[in-house]
Amino acid sequence: MHVTLDGARILAGVDLTVAVGEWVTVIGPNGAGKSTLLRAVGGLLPTKGEVTLFGTPIGSLRRRDRARVVATVAQSPVVPPGMPVLDYVLLGRTPYIPALGRESAADLAAVHEVLERLDLTGFHRRELATLSGGERQRVFLARALAQGATLLLLDEPTSALDIGHQQEVLELVDQLRREHGLTVCATMHDLSIAGEYADRMVLLDEGRVAAAGAPREVLTERLLATHYGASVRVVDGEHGPLVVPVRRR
Ligand code: ADP
Ligand code: MG
Repeated sequence: MHVTLDGARILAGVDLTVAVGEWVTVIGPNGAGKSTLLRAVGGLLPTKGEVTLFGTPIGSLRRRDRARVVATVAQSPVVPPGMPVLDYVLLGRTPYIPALGRESAADLAAVHEVLERLDLTGFHRRELATLSGGERQRVFLARALAQGATLLLLDEPTSALDIGHQQEVLELVDQLRREHGLTVCATMHDLSIAGEYADRMVLLDEGRVAAAGAPREVLTERLLATHYGASVRVVDGEHGPLVVPVRRR
């Protein structure tokens, strides 16, 4: 797949397959093209080459049908001014609500279930803009989960969260994956946490795939030095390699 934006080639020859039920995390330095890749997979960008979702070319899906298959949490979603949490999460049900129709009891039940799972029950009347960054991030995820899609695209879903909420959100996503067979494609900057949850990782650099494979094949001192210019030690952890930044001197 190639993506060109305003005349600039952003992704070049990226070939990526995510198996049903798999969790793939895309890593790479700032500007590598991670967000662009997720937007292309979600059908939000014109691409050269083919993007298929569960065997169907994405271009042939109507918006509504696509939304039942793939849900995206953008890196910095637009926050509609004055909107309460409940209404925002309810937007996730749009593909199920008939044009000019209203949400059904089942839509509301789905929304309340997701709010409860994400520890947001007490927040449903609050205006989105008044929440802390971490609370808001959980609301963005809630909207995507309420959408009931089988493929979740999460662009830095944990960047605004404290370490406890990071684990809580990722455990929840993993649990949903196991219980409902969700497929997950995420980007993340915390490499240790990324490696603990991903089945496979893809290292992007300057719009190309620099490495791909199991976390221990991608999270190596050599690759992280080459592509991030980072000085790190990689040690064996219980659930995958742990990446420890080490001061250069
Ligand atoms: P990442 O998420 O890995 O930090 P992005 O996918 O957001 O990277 O961006 C990759 C590159 O594409 C960056 O250099 C960015 O400036 C560039 N880019 C993004 N959108 C456009 C655009 N509309 N026109 C030109 N360049 C863009
Ligand atoms: Mg990004």
